[in-house]
Amino acid sequence: MITGPTNEATAAPASAVPLLFHNGLLIDGRGGEPVRDGAVLVEDGLVRWAGPGAERPELPAGTREMDVRGDAILPGFIDCHVHMAAPGGALDHAQLGAMPRSLRTFLSAPRMRQTLFAGVTTARDLGGADAGHRKAVDDGLLVGPRLLVAIAMLSPTGGHGDFRAGTDDGVTDPTMSRLADGVDDCRRAVRDLLRKGADCIKVAATGGVWSPTDQPDDDGFLEDEIRTITEIAAGHRGKRVAAHAQGRGGILNAVRGGVASVEHGYEIDDEAIDLMLERGTFLVPTLTTANTDPDPLKAASWAYAKKKHWQAVARRHIPHAIERGVRVAMGTDCGIAEHGTNLRELAYLVESGMTPMGAILAGTSEAAELLGLAHEIGTLEPGKRADLVIARGNPLTDIASLGKPENVLLVAKDGVPYKDTDGLAA
Ligand SMILES: [Zn+2]
Repeated sequence: MITGPTNEATAAPASAVPLLFHNGLLIDGRGGEPVRDGAVLVEDGLVRWAGPGAERPELPAGTREMDVRGDAILPGFIDCHVHMAAPGGALDHAQLGAMPRSLRTFLSAPRMRQTLFAGVTTARDLGGADAGHRKAVDDGLLVGPRLLVAIAMLSPTGGHGDFRAGTDDGVTDPTMSRLADGVDDCRRAVRDLLRKGADCIKVAATGGVWSPTDQPDDDGFLEDEIRTITEIAAGHRGKRVAAHAQGRGGILNAVRGGVASVEHGYEIDDEAIDLMLERGTFLVPTLTTANTDPDPLKAASWAYAKKKHWQAVARRHIPHAIERGVRVAMGTDCGIAEHGTNLRELAYLVESGMTPMGAILAGTSEAAELLGLAHEIGTLEPGKRADLVIARGNPLTDIASLGKPENVLLVAKDGVPYKDTDGLAA
């Protein structure tokens, strides 16, 4: 049974009564030992208390008590790299560009719901979703994760965001990317995105797999352009910049230019690792996408060849960065990969050398740090937003189980259960 508002609902329900989830395996996102017979008390959309059931405080009048029968209680997960406006599978820019914008937006709605139901309560959309997507969720018009939006990726001419396939025909699709060249033009472009309500900025520091005329180890924006963008974003309430960066040269340009995160980072090497450790730069390795084999029937032949080559590069370099202790935040690139199985990323992180607990932190408290939201989300501690997931079994002994949405039994955001498979909160 599924409770919570549907996509037809016009307003999110108020969590009228306090909720106590008890008899769970509490993994609170802080990295300590999991607590057996753990419990979480939720009131007014916030975590009031979390800890061993035996120590729980007196319950407020009218508290609904829910026995989670030994299943895991975790913070809601945070996916730092999604594209709600892209279909998942293979990206066909011509097809997307030909689609009316309204249809693209409507098609995002079920993906947002699917993402929330996979256990993701906050997502950073790095291109394709405008500020209306965020507001539609905040206002209860759509069911989905809380969104931070980059609106469109900034890219140099001929770079990863330039989808014109080597001809002068057509224009680059403005809903996915904006072109800018040189420091002055970057200033104007980033200010325009901030004016439109961007929460964060995405820049192309290298070429990529799905852009027709460049390679993942071609430079995108240079260091001075990236630095200009990060400075302007920082001056707008500390907004942060994520860099699409796959080849080593572009990774270095991005880190030196002051970005908060290197997205993909497939060819990350010791020089970049040293610099990232020094500056606290995050790596978001998007292994879900890196490990998804391209569909030879859907992908253009040039994209297929690039994808196969760069998959192998990622498998050589990412585990080394993890071993050296670069800060990692979970991001999937769903929209390129299929939507709705975001937490598969955790098992990929473990395959690349993280512990199961490390992977869970990458998807909760570390991701919250990257987004600048650690004071609000990412752990189950008093005063934090009550974003939580009940998942079947023990993810510390079977991390892959979280990647199957059917094992995500309950998802609450701001204390409101949206997915509730077993009708616990009904
Ligand atoms: Zn992406």
